Amino acid sequence: MADCLFCRIVNKEIPAEIIYEDADTLAFLDVHPKTPAHVLVIPKTHAENLAALSDSQIPPLFSTVKKIGKLLRSVLKADGLTIGINEGRASGQEVDHLHVHILPRFENDRGGSIQSIVNNPPLQNLKQIKEKILKND
Ligand code: AMP
Repeated sequence: MADCLFCRIVNKEIPAEIIYEDADTLAFLDVHPKTPAHVLVIPKTHAENLAALSDSQIPPLFSTVKKIGKLLRSVLKADGLTIGINEGRASGQEVDHLHVHILPRFENDRGGSIQSIVNNPPLQNLKQIKEKILKND
């Protein structure tokens, strides 16, 4: 997409610190790093979110996520990783081209877990929630 920031990075129309590239995916450094070596992994094909990405592009995307995660743990001697996707404005998505954040984590880095991002627990019990999901309404 011509006006998509990350498509423009894929097409090398704007610069980025690219650390990995293959036929289907690209990994580059986030311009506003929240951790040492905060990396974004994207599909080269434009898709706003996972649901919009073709099924054939899912394995290459997560294969690159695995590869980069292993690389970061090894090179940075990271104690762990936080891997996540912001989907939709409500979750904080700012760039509408699917991207997986990989954040190397260290003991005592004072960060939180994914579960600490939001605290909006359900009003119904788990059984009711399961039934609602399975009824698909
Ligand atoms: P999100 O809130 O999940 O949409 O995250 C978008 C991310 O893209 C943010 O962490 C930004 O710092 C990052 N970002 C925006 N523009 C660029 C760019 N030109 N190069 C690298 N990262 C970028």
